[in-house]
Amino acid sequence: MSNSLIKAVEQLISPARRILLIAHVWPDGDAIGSLLAMGSLLRDQDKEVTLACEDPAPESVAWLPGSCEVAGQASGSIDLVISLDCSDQDRMGNIYEARLTSLPLLNIDHHITNTQFGTVNWVDPSCVATAQMVLYLAQALGWQVTEPVAVCLLAGIVTDTRSFRTSNVDAATLRAALQLVEAGASLSRVARQSLDQQPLAQVRLFADAVSGLHLEDGILWTQMTRAMRQRWAVPDNGTSGLSNSLAGVREAQVVVVFTERDNGTVDVGFRAAPGYDVSEVAASLGGGGHPLAAGCTLSGDLERVQDQVLGQVRRSVAEQRARALSRPQESDSDA
Ligand code: AMP
Ligand code: MN
Ligand code: MN
Repeated sequence: MSNSLIKAVEQLISPARRILLIAHVWPDGDAIGSLLAMGSLLRDQDKEVTLACEDPAPESVAWLPGSCEVAGQASGSIDLVISLDCSDQDRMGNIYEARLTSLPLLNIDHHITNTQFGTVNWVDPSCVATAQMVLYLAQALGWQVTEPVAVCLLAGIVTDTRSFRTSNVDAATLRAALQLVEAGASLSRVARQSLDQQPLAQVRLFADAVSGLHLEDGILWTQMTRAMRQRWAVPDNGTSGLSNSLAGVREAQVVVVFTERDNGTVDVGFRAAPGYDVSEVAASLGGGGHPLAAGCTLSGDLERVQDQVLGQVRRSVAEQRARALSRPQESDSDA
């Protein structure tokens, strides 16, 4: 974190008395972990804090300390808004209502596709999780990282890296995790509760989705329709995780999972094998993410959405393969 950035962030936070923190819609472990940790850190600085997210925390992180305090709407007067893990303004959902748009907005995020929508934008794609950035902020401003804060931040890092296995994990990630463990967080507990444990109904739903897998020219895709979810009574926010396990399929370069939500929209989760990039295709469809893990949300009939998305993915994969083929020739000519 550069000195000028610390100053800019401090200049927004220090005069603010009532702060609204917003995590992205359909929150994941990083969104909820960063939200709860930042809330606790700011309260320790005597700030009045409201934590908000349009959708409820998934069961995998609902056990984190303070998660029952997350509200589905913002009320009362506010001096400053802080968005966490949101790559664009729409990711704040309906929490970011019209009356808030005139207030200063601090955008803290690690997505390469971030659209810099804040008054101050602290966007660091070298961090594996927004939680890692919140730790750096606490350290830069001399705020004490208590045990509950450390647990929330470690949950953010562990879920976004699938327990330190994604290609962006480096020495700085492990150092941050070490500091959180030293502050009292248990890595085995966080990994078990936020990653490994899942309801049996979800496993049964995933089994149905796996039996409907299609592999076409390195693109592996499947769907979870509303009827499939209803069969096992799995809520809309209980379907993440399938794309992560499919990302390990050797025959697949790109994985696409379509999930029909109750509100009629379709959530599209993308995963790529190293060497491929799905953030571009996700961004071109109005979503965002990271090179190896991205997503978007589209409205409309499931079959039409699938045709549209798979068409774009096929084009993107073909372009990436063509670029990869031309690369050795470029380096040959350099030699
Ligand atoms: P997921 O597949 O939900 O685990 O998401 C993988 C990555 O893509 C995460 O970094 C998300 O923040 C991002 N992402 C997922 N869905 C969307 C969306 N609708 N818009 C923007 N980014 C998304
Ligand atoms: Mn997230
Ligand atoms: Mn994240």
